[in-house]
Amino acid sequence: DIEPRVDTYRFYREEWDDYEELYESFEWEIPETFNMATFLCERWATGEARPALFDASSANSRTRYSFDQLEENANQLAQAFADRGIERGDRIAVSGAQRVETLVTHIAAWKLGAVSVPLSVLLGPDALSFRLEDSETVAFVAHDDSLEALRTVAPDIGVLETTLVVGDESLTDEETAFWDALEGQPSTFETVSTPADDPAMMIYTSGTTGNPKGVIHPHRSMLGALPAVLLGQYNLQVRADDVNRTVVEWSWIGSLYLSLFPALYFGTPTVIDASGEFDPEREFELIDRYDVTTTGGPATALRMLVHSESADRYDLSSVRVIVQGGEALDRDTATRLTDVFENAVVHEVYGQTEALQFVADCTALGVDHQFGKMGKVAPGHTVRIQDPETGESLERGEVGEIALEYDGNPMCFEEYWNRSDATAEKVQNGWLRTEDLGVLSEDGYLSFRSRTDDVIISSGYKIGPTEIEECLAEHDAVASSGVIGVPHETRGEIPKAFVVLTDDADASESMRETLQDHVRSRLAKYQYPREIEFADELPKTSTGKVRRLDLRKREGLAPS
Ligand code: ATP
Ligand code: MG
Repeated sequence: DIEPRVDTYRFYREEWDDYEELYESFEWEIPETFNMATFLCERWATGEARPALFDASSANSRTRYSFDQLEENANQLAQAFADRGIERGDRIAVSGAQRVETLVTHIAAWKLGAVSVPLSVLLGPDALSFRLEDSETVAFVAHDDSLEALRTVAPDIGVLETTLVVGDESLTDEETAFWDALEGQPSTFETVSTPADDPAMMIYTSGTTGNPKGVIHPHRSMLGALPAVLLGQYNLQVRADDVNRTVVEWSWIGSLYLSLFPALYFGTPTVIDASGEFDPEREFELIDRYDVTTTGGPATALRMLVHSESADRYDLSSVRVIVQGGEALDRDTATRLTDVFENAVVHEVYGQTEALQFVADCTALGVDHQFGKMGKVAPGHTVRIQDPETGESLERGEVGEIALEYDGNPMCFEEYWNRSDATAEKVQNGWLRTEDLGVLSEDGYLSFRSRTDDVIISSGYKIGPTEIEECLAEHDAVASSGVIGVPHETRGEIPKAFVVLTDDADASESMRETLQDHVRSRLAKYQYPREIEFADELPKTSTGKVRRLDLRKREGLAPS
């Protein structure tokens, strides 16, 4: 009874061309039982070697993995997990490297009814042990990049019993090589039938504002994200020749739920590369080599792309959609993207770990990217702007907290793992509080202002740091910046910018004045950074976002 759900989305992309009409008439059709393993893999494994992954990191550039291979390996791994006593509901951690073993692990976990927990390969020992312990993970499929960190903490982590290692490392007695664990296992495994509400994944928030929280997503969330993903990432149409690329490693929702999973759901191949560090030249090379059609990432990564001088040397004409999400997109980067990728539309999307994606641009529906706006609310979702203190609904045009209707919304998270207090804070009166401030315009575009707790109040004016950062990014001398509020005797707070300059710019008093003038002449008079500190680098989350919390700690404004 699940097959028609596929058609739900097929009819939707073929017949609609009007945003309003689509939004008004859309209805969710979520089946009662739904398992991601079935829809992301099994149903495409028909023996025809349909490609799922193009592996750019292997020595042989023709290496590809078919859905049939994924299915067979996932069956073997699911059995290997079952043999080790791993059961439905257990947590299985897997590092975020873009490798076939990573994806096989997710699918195997879902087949068992277990919950996969993606963990960034960049996590150091403390960050890793916090997540392994917090999630009470029983098995960890670690890639060799994480091994050093893991070995220093593994002995102290109580419930972790199984460690499978991907890569060529020499192993300890507690560790088993990934492919050895699959050896001799049967190639079939019966996928557990799961209610759509059963947990499938637990993803940690970036921890931009505090300790990361484990966000539980049921199997259904994946379907819930599809309408917005179809708009933003696919510009409403999935094409037979689409080739998807995920830029960031597979540990945040952007690369999993908005890129890899939908591609698998649609039977579209994804280009993977385990090399880790984001390198513009490498991205261009992969786009050219595999004729990538849809790609994207957070603005920080895209900014590196558009400032790279190697773009000219590659054929980038295959790209039809570039998506930005996770951060605000500055005008300069958006403009340059359309220059670099001549055939691509630039779309912005918005979401968060707890509410995957519910806002997007979609040029095919007349929702073109407008500077400073994130796009329109996707079909199936209701957004309102509310007073952050009282929860009272505000008018269009007023700044307030962005809230998403939670009840009956299949895309939203179920709860925070072991944090019912935090869940109750996050979901109130049937609305999910994004903890972001924004504005809904008369014509339905949603704009981002700032995170609720990043607002700077200076002489009574509310100042969002994002606008200042975007404005600084438009100056040639600025590579990146982070803005926070610091206490001030008469003004309450003032904006302070930490600025990383480009290689050919000099940190000087006159540079400071130049940047202040630049911002003052573009934004409101009260909005410029009254203090500027030049820095060699900025504290970042593993997803590459500036950690304003660490900047506050640096200033002694937050406990370290
Ligand atoms: P934590 O919740 O642990 O503090 P985090 O909120 O940074 O971390 P994510 O869930 O990965 O972790 O990020 C979602 C947040 O990213 C959104 O709530 C919003 O603040 C920001 N964001 C996402 N898309 C956009 C966008 N298009 N423009 C501006 N900000 C965005
Ligand atoms: Mg958050």
